[in-house]
Amino acid sequence: MASFECQACGARVEIEDDRRTGKCLYCGSPQVIDRPPSADRPSPTFGLAFVVTPERALETARAFVRRPFFAPTSFRKAKVDDVRGIYLPAYLYTAVAHTAYEAQIGENYTVTETYTTTENGKTVTRTRTRTETEWRSLSGRCSSFVGDHVVSASRGLPNVELESIEPFDWRAIKRYAPRLISGWATEEPTLAPAEVAQEARTEASNAVGKRLARFMPGDSHRSLRWQTTFEHEDLELVLVPLWILPVRYREDKPPVRLLVNGQTGRVHANTPTSWIKVMTAIVLSCALVVLAIWLLTERR
Ligand SMILES: [Zn+2]
Repeated sequence: MASFECQACGARVEIEDDRRTGKCLYCGSPQVIDRPPSADRPSPTFGLAFVVTPERALETARAFVRRPFFAPTSFRKAKVDDVRGIYLPAYLYTAVAHTAYEAQIGENYTVTETYTTTENGKTVTRTRTRTETEWRSLSGRCSSFVGDHVVSASRGLPNVELESIEPFDWRAIKRYAPRLISGWATEEPTLAPAEVAQEARTEASNAVGKRLARFMPGDSHRSLRWQTTFEHEDLELVLVPLWILPVRYREDKPPVRLLVNGQTGRVHANTPTSWIKVMTAIVLSCALVVLAIWLLTERR
């Protein structure tokens, strides 16, 4: 617990160690504290503001839970009315990526060939064209700036979950100021930059590969391989806006955590699967196949 004086009424306010914001018990005014940063717990450098309202987050979430056909009916009918906005700490990774790559580039060409066939009892000669691909090796190097990868700095929300509602629009990035998060629940980072660096590099390297694949010459390519090394790496703490909506669909199961990107409205949850529905679908489709085969053989 950190204890400090309320800016509005002068009362003592306590804020838990994993939080950056709280509320004064006496006057209800929102509080933001600034702890001295350490290597493991840097202070935020940047932040993204909330754009999505809680009403829109709720609407988005309600529409989302109704959709998945193979989810248990209790999930699709679950009431979603609990919505919490939080600022999640994450690290924004920037670096210069040096990449060496190699691939097989395919160039298409057309071959015209003559062949003989029988038409109306006569042997005739015809021509046809077909497309062939010639493969050649290509290798090269490129360097690029990497600047829009973000990795969760919270043990409570794994990076895969954050990825599921990315991307964020980094054009709206702001310098961190306490007024950005005032009144919002804000978590302190629980992962040090060194603990997420490898994950950030992997994300950046995958993105480099995707970009390379888009810019390969020729008509097609295969066996693309690349090796990226990073230079001038930097991990800055950024606070990103999230709506968290627990979906309680069964009493004996923990609630499913539904996330809505507080900036873009992108939604995700690990939807449970109803195995009864899946099995029924399989059995029904098998039955249809059997019926179709029976109908076809009966006709003969
Ligand atoms: Zn107060």
